[in-house]
Amino acid sequence: MAARYIFVCGGVMSGIGKGTATASIGLILKSKGFSVEPMKIDPYLNIDAGTMNPLEHGEVFVTRDGIETDQDIGIYERFLDQELERKNYLTSGQVYWSVLNKERNFEFGGKCVEIIPHVTNEIISRIKELGKKADFVLVEIGGTVGEYQNLLFLEAARQMKLENPKRVIFILVSYLPIPEMLGEMKTKPTQTAARLLNEAGIQPNFILARSKTLLDEPRKRKISLFCNIKPENVISAPDIEFLYEIPLNFERESLGNKILKELGMKPRKTDLKEWETLIKRIKSSKKELKIGVCGKYFKIGKFILIDSYISVIEAIKHACWYFKRKPEIQWLDAEEYEKHPRNVRELENFAGIIVPGGFGSRGVEGKIRAIEFCRKNKIPYLGLCLGMQLAIIEFARNVCGLRGANSTEFNQKTKYPVIDVMPEQKVLLKEKKYGGTMRLGDYKCQIKKGTKSYLAYKQEIVFERHRHRYELNNEFRGILEKRGMVMAGINPERDLVEIIELKDHPFFVATQFHPEFKSRPLRPHPLFREFIRACLKRSKNL
Ligand code: GLN
Repeated sequence: MAARYIFVCGGVMSGIGKGTATASIGLILKSKGFSVEPMKIDPYLNIDAGTMNPLEHGEVFVTRDGIETDQDIGIYERFLDQELERKNYLTSGQVYWSVLNKERNFEFGGKCVEIIPHVTNEIISRIKELGKKADFVLVEIGGTVGEYQNLLFLEAARQMKLENPKRVIFILVSYLPIPEMLGEMKTKPTQTAARLLNEAGIQPNFILARSKTLLDEPRKRKISLFCNIKPENVISAPDIEFLYEIPLNFERESLGNKILKELGMKPRKTDLKEWETLIKRIKSSKKELKIGVCGKYFKIGKFILIDSYISVIEAIKHACWYFKRKPEIQWLDAEEYEKHPRNVRELENFAGIIVPGGFGSRGVEGKIRAIEFCRKNKIPYLGLCLGMQLAIIEFARNVCGLRGANSTEFNQKTKYPVIDVMPEQKVLLKEKKYGGTMRLGDYKCQIKKGTKSYLAYKQEIVFERHRHRYELNNEFRGILEKRGMVMAGINPERDLVEIIELKDHPFFVATQFHPEFKSRPLRPHPLFREFIRACLKRSKNL
């Protein structure tokens, strides 16, 4: 057990930025020269996040080795600039699956298989596996303390602390509400959350106090006293405009060295210079650039949820900041363009349009209208996965004259199935094997010289992440190319089209993969960067 283990739990309520806090701590430790492996634990029974509706659970992120995860893995990748894998993501489903398989294989040698120790041991061994190659393992336990679902994970963590008290610490990320009728910050829910952890046999070493404003001294003292925590380990984490500033805020309270101290280690210098420059750049990016995202996973009742497209949004921001621009992202509801086709004209007012990934036929015709408008009116367009498939359908229908061309995902009987499933996918669908069976993770893509994509990447071979079942049907490649569509990126192993472009257009590029997963705040993705460059040009004339 050479590594140190930091467990991050959440108190009071979900959605208070536990993932960002975990990622920020990881960044701070990394900047001190340590190696870090983060792990996200989701207590639900799903094996992965792939089968969940983005409206319920937010975006499904994909790692290079092809596991479909919660969006927190994306947050870690962006902060740590580190590519994560299957081993960094754990769910109750995976844990039970593995224990039950071992039982069937007689690996417990005739013993009665029990939740404790067999299930907890499985969790512990997964966590320790990560520790084999890192100085620090940061484990974020999803959900909120007190929930029935995450108790087992807390129990596993407690046992790890018992085994090696000097190498394990706990951080509670909690929330301090300021009820409007009182106008005062309340600490009681946080006290209760700390007690719930105590009930599970865990004493937090730190409390990160999320709130609207900074914590004042009396409240720090109160939390310290009632939650049994050193006053200097109660860290204020107020709401801020830019998430990427959180590590700097934590360092203002020397969180990094305080963590080292708790683990009996010597303090070390933090080097966040690049990060500081980034924040300065973000803050000085004042001039707005209006980008439209035409999708369908953002409306739930009266609320707009942006979680479903979080990596796309972040990738837009990274690219805009690169040009010192402030992105003004607007949500364009594709179904509106079906009900009111003329409304598509509003796209004139945008510097550029993105159609992101999606599943199922809802909103598809509206998106196709939007794409047609961008093509005809020379509005910069970036299509992501479904956004590429729909650009091909639009081109097949309106330029190649293939009336009724479609994807077999939306119309199985179409005369022109320009987008279709691969034979092996057909079998999987027939057998209803939906989970984890799409074309997932990194695939090689060969870029054609002289294309816009080549200008962006400046490289002939790239690896990009996929998550889809359908592909451009090669039978139609000839006619599409003849009418001017450029097949700018090809997967050499299977001869699949991965990027399409249009000539005679300032920027019309669409990818079968999801470039957004590989964009970083300090290194915007080349295709997003070039898309934004084209948007900037257009915005000068708007
Ligand atoms: N529904 C399409 C497919 O399965 C696109 C998926 C996506 O956009 N991620 O191929």
